[in-house]
Amino acid sequence: TEVRPSNFIRNIIDADLESGKHTQVQTRFPPEPNGFLHIGHAKSICLNFGIAKDYQGKCNLRFDDTNPEKEDIDYVHSIQDDVRWLGFQWSGDIHYSSGYFDQIHQYAIELINKGLAYVCFLNADETREYRGTLTKPGKNSPYRDTTPEENLALFEKMRLGEFKEGECALRAKIDMSSSFMVMRDPIIYRVRFAHHHQAGDKWCIYPMYDFTHCISDAIEGITHSICTLEFQDNRRVYDWVLDNLDDFNKPNRTRQYEFSRLNIEYTLMSKRKLNDLVDRKIVSGWDDPRMPTIAGLRRRGYTPASIREFCERIGVTKVENLIEVGMLNACIREDLNENAPRAMAVVDPIKVVIENYPEAQQETLSAPAHPTHEHLGTRELPFGRELYIDAADFREEANKKYKRLVLDKEVRLRNAYVIKALRCDKDEQGKVTTVYCSYDAETLGKNPADGRKVKGVIHWVEAASAKPAEFRIYNSLFTEANPAGAESIDDVLNPTSLVVKHGFAEASLVTAKAEKAYQFEREGYFCADNKDSKPDSLVFNLTVALRDTFGE
Ligand code: ATP
Ligand code: MG
Ligand code: MG
Repeated sequence: TEVRPSNFIRNIIDADLESGKHTQVQTRFPPEPNGFLHIGHAKSICLNFGIAKDYQGKCNLRFDDTNPEKEDIDYVHSIQDDVRWLGFQWSGDIHYSSGYFDQIHQYAIELINKGLAYVCFLNADETREYRGTLTKPGKNSPYRDTTPEENLALFEKMRLGEFKEGECALRAKIDMSSSFMVMRDPIIYRVRFAHHHQAGDKWCIYPMYDFTHCISDAIEGITHSICTLEFQDNRRVYDWVLDNLDDFNKPNRTRQYEFSRLNIEYTLMSKRKLNDLVDRKIVSGWDDPRMPTIAGLRRRGYTPASIREFCERIGVTKVENLIEVGMLNACIREDLNENAPRAMAVVDPIKVVIENYPEAQQETLSAPAHPTHEHLGTRELPFGRELYIDAADFREEANKKYKRLVLDKEVRLRNAYVIKALRCDKDEQGKVTTVYCSYDAETLGKNPADGRKVKGVIHWVEAASAKPAEFRIYNSLFTEANPAGAESIDDVLNPTSLVVKHGFAEASLVTAKAEKAYQFEREGYFCADNKDSKPDSLVFNLTVALRDTFGE
C-alpha cells in the first residue's frame, strides 16, 4: 500500500484521534456550482478524499449553492463527473447547502431570539461607511439595538418578499470594532428574488457563505473543514456562529483549517476568470484543452493518476507559491512514457518515393506498441513505395550533427528499412515537396551486412494507407508567468497558444480512443480529441511534448 507523505493537516488529525476528540474522520469537498472544476480544485479533492481514504473516514460532496444567480445545474453535473473521473467517490448521497435552507433559517431565528442578529436597513454605501477600515473602527448601525420581537417580525417580512433586494439584510451582532473586518456585524441573510436550481422558488432570502458553510459542516458532522487561506479571517465568524448555536456548541464540533491555494505559472486559477475566457470566446469552452480545468486536461490526454501524482508532489502547506508548469508536465510525461502505446504520425509531411521498391508491392511490417512493455503487444505497419516523413527530417545538405535524412546519405526508417536520399523536388517557394530515395531490402530489423554505420532514425507513415489527421499543438494561454497580475488579460494572451497542423497518422490510429494518449514517436504525446475526431477525419491534441523546451 502506498504511504502518503504527511502534512500539517494530517498531523492535526492524528492528534485529534489520539486525544479521543474524534473517533472518526469526516471531511467534505464543497464546490460552488458556478463553473467547471480546475486543477486547483483537484488539490482540494485529493486532500479531502485522500484523508478520508487513508483514515477509513468519509468525505462528502457538497454543493455550496447559496448564489442562485451564478449557479447552474450543468455545473452540478460536470463537477460530479470530474470528481469521479479523478478516481474518487463521495460517501452516501450528494449534499447541497440548499438542502439545509430550512434549518439554516431556524438557526437565524435562534440568533435573533438571543439578541445576536438584527435586520439592518442601512444601504450599501452607508453599510460600508459604518463598517470602518482596517485602521478605523466601525460604528454601530442604528438598527443594532432593536428588540428580538421586532427583528423576528422584520425577518419574517424579508422571507415573505415584502422588502426589495438591497433594502435590508439580516446581520450578526458581533463587534464593530473587531480587528477582523469580517467580524464587523457580517450580513448573514440577504434578499434575492432568484430561482434556485435546487430549491426552486421557495426562497427569496438566501444565507451568506459565512453563515451557511459552518452550519452545513456541523449538520453533516464534519470533523475537519479544510479550505484555502483566503478564508483564514472568516474562521472567526465560523467559530462565532457555531459557538452561539445550542445544537453545535460542543468541544468536538467541526473546526476549519486553511492551506495555500494551488497556483500554476502561465495559468489562471479562478472560475470567475476562466468563465470570462469562455464568455469572451478566447477559448472554445470550459473543456478547451488549453484550460486548466479537469475537463480541459482530460480532453488533452492527462490521466487521473498524473493529476493525483502532481497533487502529491506539490504537497499541502500554508505557503503561497506559484508552481512551475514543468512539474505538471513531468507528471503526465512520466505516466505516458510508462503506459502510452507508441505510434507514428507525421505532423508536417513531405513525400518520400522509394524508386527501387517494386511499384505493385505492399507489405505489412510489425512494430511493438511499447519499447519495453511486451504485454502491450504489436501493431501492423503497412509499408510501400510512397511514404510521408516530416519536413524537418530532410535537408539537402547538413553537418554531422544532423542525424536525419540528407542527400546522398542514409537514415533508418523507424521499425523498417534503411533508405538513401537521391534527389528532391521543390515547389516555387523552394520548399521540398518530394524526396526520391532508394532502400536497402536487406536491412529490415538488422544492420547493413557490409558493416556500414547508419546513425539516424526517423519516423514515417506509408502514404496509401495513412489517415489524414489534424494536429492541434498547444502552448500556454498566456505569455506571463502570473497572468492574474496583468492589468488586462488581453495584454498577456499568447497568440500561438493553438497551432493547427495537417499531416498523416499511421493506419492503426483510426481506432484511437478519445482522451487516450499515444506517444507519436519523435513528435510528442497526443490523444484523439473527444469532440472533433472522427475515423475519417482524425483530430489529435498534443498532450505534452516529449521534453520541456523552456529556457532552451
Ligand atoms: P474559484 O475562485 O476558482 O471559483 P473557489 O474557492 O471560489 O475557487 P469553490 O467552488 O468554492 O471555488 O471551491 C471548492 C473548494 O476547492 C474550496 O474548498 C476551495 O478552497 C478549494 N479550491 C478552490 N481553488 C483552489 C486552488 N486553487 N487550490 C486549492 N484549493 C482550491
Ligand atoms: Mg467558494
Ligand atoms: Mg470563487
